[in-house]
Amino acid sequence: MADITPEVRALMRPSAAALEPYDPAFSPVDVILSANENNYGIPSEVAPILAEAVAGAAWNRYPAPLGGRLRARLAAWHGVAPEQVIIGNGGDELLFNLFLAFGGAGHTLVSCPPTFSVYGLYASMVETPVAEVFRGRDFAPNVDALAEAARTATLVVVTSPNNPTGDLFPREGVRRLCEACPGIVLVDEAYIEFSDPGSSVDDLLGEYENLAVLHTFSKAFALAGTRVGYVLAGAPVVAALAAVRQPYSVSAPDQAAALAAVTHREAFRPAIEAIRLGRGRLSAMLGGLASLGVRVWPSQANFVCARVPHAHDVWRRLRDEHSILVRDFSSTPGLEGCLRITVGTPGEIDLVAAALDTILKGE
Ligand SMILES: *Cc1c(COP(=O)(O)O)cnc(C)c1O
Repeated sequence: MADITPEVRALMRPSAAALEPYDPAFSPVDVILSANENNYGIPSEVAPILAEAVAGAAWNRYPAPLGGRLRARLAAWHGVAPEQVIIGNGGDELLFNLFLAFGGAGHTLVSCPPTFSVYGLYASMVETPVAEVFRGRDFAPNVDALAEAARTATLVVVTSPNNPTGDLFPREGVRRLCEACPGIVLVDEAYIEFSDPGSSVDDLLGEYENLAVLHTFSKAFALAGTRVGYVLAGAPVVAALAAVRQPYSVSAPDQAAALAAVTHREAFRPAIEAIRLGRGRLSAMLGGLASLGVRVWPSQANFVCARVPHAHDVWRRLRDEHSILVRDFSSTPGLEGCLRITVGTPGEIDLVAAALDTILKGE
């Protein structure tokens, strides 16, 4: 990627001129455990159905702006009205639209770092001041301080399970934030399908008009390549998000793929269950390296966060000597020494555990 020259930067909106192009630090490797994708892919019995649905999409027509059948199917699944569902070009577009609609100068965001970096990025793009309430020991959120900050916020964003720490945000905490905040409380549930049953706060939507819940097809539903996400919220909040969206942001083939996935969602359960089991096995293997200085935190997502000695070096050696890519958070404030490892297939779990063992034992 070329640099932004000073001449070009001088032409940019000031909040954009402060940014650099996003670099996911991807390198071609054999084992990709860096982006929390579903390494099992689309279940074999669903793949041909999905392919047929995509091929049969109306390629020459503009897609249904608000998702048509997909929206209706999502509403039926979650037991809400279609007016309470909005789809986006990945969860990322919906997050951006949330800041477009509810952020801006004079509109404060409350966030709970360390967490998904995209919130801060989008907030800064639209000049939104951010009040950060840092997590405490073992990444526990400070709900009292969050609720206090929420009293003067336009937007509160919490992530459950949190990326990259893996913990659920307490349900009682979500209630307190909804009650304290005069603005919108978004709970980002991108990984909720990997959590214990009953972990979602979707069922609180009927109680709080200012609650919004983000979901995506990129993680459990193995469709990161299609770019479809959705928000469930009260109809007026959905209307506000609809007002700022690009009308045709979710393509007809992507809508068709997501519709097929929702329709056949039961078929994704075995892989989700396998990932949950794999998560336990990976955590136990990392826990077994405690004498070498490794610390692993419990996770309700499809990744684990682990602190390892010389983390950046370990990250580089995993990539260069073992062709395994994980995510390096070791220079992120609050995550010193931490790597995030996606739970892959059983074979991939064995490979990353063995590689870490080799590197840390200095062999
Ligand atoms: C992956 C992710 C998303 C959404 O990703 P999309 O691919 O844009 O749908 C949202 N929030 C968190 C915390 C994520 O990790």
